[in-house]
Amino acid sequence: MNTREIMAQADQYVLHTYNRFPVVFDRGQGVRLYDTDGKEYLDFGAGIAVFALGYNDPEYTAALEDQMKKVIHTSNLFYNEPLADAAKKVVDSCGMGKVFFTNSGTEAIEGALKTARKYAWLRDKRTDHEIIAMNNSFHGRSMGSLSVTGNAGYQDPFKPLIGGIRFADFNDLDSVKAQLSDRTCAIIMETVQGEGGIYPADPEFLKGIRKICDERDILLILDEVQCGMGRTGSLWAWQSYGVQPDIMTCAKALGCGVPVGAFVVSERVAEHSLTPGDHGSTYGGNPLATRAVSTVFDLFEKKNIVGHVQKITPYFEKKLDEMVEKYSCLTERRGRGLMQGLVVKDRPIGHVLRAALDHGLVVLSASSNVIRLVPPLVITEADIDEMVEKLSAALDETA
Ligand SMILES: *Cc1c(COP(=O)(O)O)cnc(C)c1O
Repeated sequence: MNTREIMAQADQYVLHTYNRFPVVFDRGQGVRLYDTDGKEYLDFGAGIAVFALGYNDPEYTAALEDQMKKVIHTSNLFYNEPLADAAKKVVDSCGMGKVFFTNSGTEAIEGALKTARKYAWLRDKRTDHEIIAMNNSFHGRSMGSLSVTGNAGYQDPFKPLIGGIRFADFNDLDSVKAQLSDRTCAIIMETVQGEGGIYPADPEFLKGIRKICDERDILLILDEVQCGMGRTGSLWAWQSYGVQPDIMTCAKALGCGVPVGAFVVSERVAEHSLTPGDHGSTYGGNPLATRAVSTVFDLFEKKNIVGHVQKITPYFEKKLDEMVEKYSCLTERRGRGLMQGLVVKDRPIGHVLRAALDHGLVVLSASSNVIRLVPPLVITEADIDEMVEKLSAALDETA
């Protein structure tokens, strides 16, 4: 099939839930993607903050090949070594207690919500517990995750959603306090809001939330699906705030492309929540997925990925700040580490993304007016220079 035939066939048979850009990617190498016409793209989207290590890392590929030849699935009725390996690495990385592997971010959220409800139910046997979530948040598309996603456009067509959810404003502690009651069992939030437009939590806000949770035995669920895995300059974004969650969710870069997510709980929560029969997944944590996780952790350490993010962040921020200064259509830069947003005014974000693609640059959007830059974590200063050049050309062209 040629490029046009591939797009036409996909449009005919794949349910239309995405407006795709007219590009067919064929292969990737490092921080570059190649389409079916052989055109090269610098990738500052990383498959939506997934491909932290860059494409086709030889050690990653070799580990998965090896696992595929052994066994890729056995079910959770039996033990396997990649699961044991990956679980230890995830838990050790955050100093928590136990992990449950899922196949996606949204499933990690579902598990976190169930864990929080069970924890509270064991305490007081009430069945009317409430969870406080944030406006402008994003936690996924399944019913539970959608119920805590503070975005009316995503929610309204699918109501009724799960009950007992109250919304507060991100970075506004008083608005959270206003939603508290003796039924509150958990507060869920992203440490850095991603889809909502790249808004980092204020340190005082996060610390204030932690204090409320401690005082009332409420569980703090931090969603690190997008901001975790080194992206903001610490392995988990909350680690740089000095605030520990009771439950953490992760996915996206966790397997660097193999579909896998996880929710991780403190030892205390592990001891007082889910027990056999409460939760499960046919695929969750299968040997292929957990071999990917285990290998990603090894490679993060070997390549000192987190150290690299810390080292390159000032250059990235400086270059983006220069763009904000130069272009009147860019009003602000927001973000942490290699999770940055440029706020655009006066022109449709889709035009900018499309023009960038024409110039061989993949960037994403967040919210309706933010250029989202979430590159592979292995980018160099030269890659950043090239991104600036290409994005500038796209902005000039759409002026
Ligand atoms: C992407 C995302 C999710 C959902 O992950 P899926 O793998 O798409 O289900 C949840 N939370 C956050 C913060 C995300 O960015």
